[in-house]
Amino acid sequence: MRPGVFNPILYGRHLFQQFAVDTYIKIESSRLDYMRNNQDTLRADLYQGLVDSMHSGEGSAENVGRRTVLFSSFIGGPRDMRRWYMDAMALVQKYGKPNIFLTMTCNPNWDEIKNELYPGQTPQDRPDLVTRVFRAKLEAMRKMLMEKYILGKVKAYVYVVEFQKRGLPHAHFLLIMERKYKLTCPEQYDMIITVELPNKKKYPELYKMVTKHMMHGPCGRLNPYCPCTMGRGSCKNRYLRPFCEAMSQGKDSYPIYRRRNDGRTLKVQGHYLDNQWVGPYNSCLLRTFNYHINVEAYEH
Ligand SMILES: [Zn+2]
Repeated sequence: MRPGVFNPILYGRHLFQQFAVDTYIKIESSRLDYMRNNQDTLRADLYQGLVDSMHSGEGSAENVGRRTVLFSSFIGGPRDMRRWYMDAMALVQKYGKPNIFLTMTCNPNWDEIKNELYPGQTPQDRPDLVTRVFRAKLEAMRKMLMEKYILGKVKAYVYVVEFQKRGLPHAHFLLIMERKYKLTCPEQYDMIITVELPNKKKYPELYKMVTKHMMHGPCGRLNPYCPCTMGRGSCKNRYLRPFCEAMSQGKDSYPIYRRRNDGRTLKVQGHYLDNQWVGPYNSCLLRTFNYHINVEAYEH
């Protein structure tokens, strides 16, 4: 986007998406061509890495046809993926298992996106904008987590950004906390992760965000056609979740958060939803990013 310059691509709507995909395919094809034509330069480093020796693949020469090996720099290729995987496992080996699992989603209605749309456009028409704003928010969140210690001091972390079918990105983080900041007692859990509706009078802003972004359902018996329930007896995300006076240990490695029956409800599609329907959130992150950020802890 340049002030005063008309860029037809940005006005293409669905064609812009097609253009972006086509262009990426061109880039990828040219990379693949290069690799196909430069297999000799690759053979040398092929069997050097520890990573590759782990891969019990084609070892014998009598294999028919010619095998093309992708460079490990080819994003998304098996060697690239294995490298990332090994790095992540090395972190776990050194620092222990992850303690917090965090999912950040992209809000297509963020002001930063809406303000830049041309008249008549929806966020879907501008994947360039959506991804850039998401990237900026992601970096901001990373800063909050790693430098401002919103959830405590982080020793190591891994994250991945994924794209859904319609082009909206989301990111998953796994955080390994420093020993002092590992969640051990119920009070610590309560401070970081909430699964209750906030006080509407005291925290009107937060209340609005929780009701808008963190409520699940109605599903299950209340709404059998909800995507999370359809074709099965109950919600696949295990909602509604029973009340719980104090945080306690779960049967798997997921703790059961404090979910008190405080009488607060919210009317959604004709049903009154109480705390049993609230997804786990961190009030600080939710307030800063004004969108669905799922925060869960693991017990070990
Ligand atoms: Zn559900």
